[in-house]
Amino acid sequence: MERNVSSLAIVVHSQRYGQLHRKLKLLTVDFGLIDVVSYGARKSVKAVKAEVFLDGQFFLYFNPVKKSYTLSDVQVVATHDEIRSDLGSTYAALFFCEMILNTNGGDSPEQYALLSKALDMLVSHRELANRILIQFIWKLIAICGLQSNLERCPICDRIYDKDEILSFNSQLSAPCCSGCATLDSGMELPPGARRYLLLTSSLDFILAVFIELSETATQRIKNYLLRYASIVSGKALKTLAGGLLQSQL
Ligand SMILES: [Zn+2]
Repeated sequence: MERNVSSLAIVVHSQRYGQLHRKLKLLTVDFGLIDVVSYGARKSVKAVKAEVFLDGQFFLYFNPVKKSYTLSDVQVVATHDEIRSDLGSTYAALFFCEMILNTNGGDSPEQYALLSKALDMLVSHRELANRILIQFIWKLIAICGLQSNLERCPICDRIYDKDEILSFNSQLSAPCCSGCATLDSGMELPPGARRYLLLTSSLDFILAVFIELSETATQRIKNYLLRYASIVSGKALKTLAGGLLQSQL
């Protein structure tokens, strides 16, 4: 017997499924990351429209035998359609979705809240896209339990000097002192960038995005965190392949 279930969710991926249908990946608050089939989504005008970036309350049928979900209806919170009118924003949002897919297993209510705010901010504060990107990665690393203490080396436990440049340990996927570094990854965190990340780690996402940062520092920290995101993902990210997000957004 099919059951009716519902959850707040965001569409993070959508692909063709047969001739007429689509298979969606939803980041849901209540069921984690799930596949949902949207029947007739490609042809019928009456079919429920649920495109990538859409945030809403999703009404689903769950088949407990097949453990599969089909889409019944969606009450839109925000379509985030505005993002698609700008290439930089589109890439940033697709990058967010790719990171959500790569870190499947993180805390889904927290991931949902972060993605929802990040997409809203891309719509309302396009000019802060670089900082939105920085804080999305930094908060996601924290949600995944990978954010390390930036005051002392997580390996030898030594407290960093005030002006110390941090290196990186790839096995731990974390910054560390130069003595504990594993590879020449080019992952160097200067003291100013460390202070910024340390300060914003205790702030809410939106407040953190509004913390002023110079153009140069923004660019440097963003590229550091984009590399960090690839390391955490354990693979090359499709949305970083073109180099667009690495340049000035
Ligand atoms: Zn150390």
